[in-house]
Amino acid sequence: MNIILLGPPGAGKGTQARFLVDERNMIQLSTGDMLREAKDSGTEMGNIVADVMAKGELVTDEIVIGLIREKLQGDKQGGVIFDGFPRTLAQADALATLLDDCGETLDAVIEMQVDDEALVDRITARSTCGNCGEVYNDHTKPIPDDGVCTNCCEKAEFKRRADDNADSLKQRLMEYYKKTSPLLGYYYAKGQLRSVDGLGEMADVKAAIARVLDA
Ligand code: ADP
Repeated sequence: MNIILLGPPGAGKGTQARFLVDERNMIQLSTGDMLREAKDSGTEMGNIVADVMAKGELVTDEIVIGLIREKLQGDKQGGVIFDGFPRTLAQADALATLLDDCGETLDAVIEMQVDDEALVDRITARSTCGNCGEVYNDHTKPIPDDGVCTNCCEKAEFKRRADDNADSLKQRLMEYYKKTSPLLGYYYAKGQLRSVDGLGEMADVKAAIARVLDA
């Protein structure tokens, strides 16, 4: 089963993707994570994307489609969760072709609906464990006082993303509404769009996604 998690920055796509990886043996393809890895590795591509990401703008279709193409050649285990991809209509068309080329289908596109106020709150309060990527939130799930991650049980460095600040976030939201939200109509017209309320507790959102996938 191959699915897309679609929603604005901070909707909780990454958190839910991690649940699906643990419970359904799926693999998560997050273009955001891939681009951050490229950025940290200091490659030529990494240096090109670093500036674009920090500003909250979209990296070129050519680069992200290339990253996904490469990953789709590997083991897909119980299926692929596309997290943060596609983000433009050109990427959506490219994904259809890539899946077709490897004999795969797209089974569902899950829209995670969250209101804009909640997004700003979530993103400006978020940090992640440097070891395992577990997501923390200053209000709802603060970093433990002893500095030991509750997920991997390691003493960890907790990181905030360079683009999780008010200015970049404004730009990321603008990019979402201008370039990514048309994908809702695109997948609706294809009969593949399913929407869940992304505002509730993590466990409730997880249950809503499970209902969609098991329907
Ligand atoms: P979020 O969903 O919280 O904005 P991501 O980790 O998915 O975060 O993406 C971070 C940044 O990486 C984006 O703001 C953009 O610059 C870049 N990026 C990620 N995925 C794509 C994509 N599919 N197309 C273009 N740029 C992307």
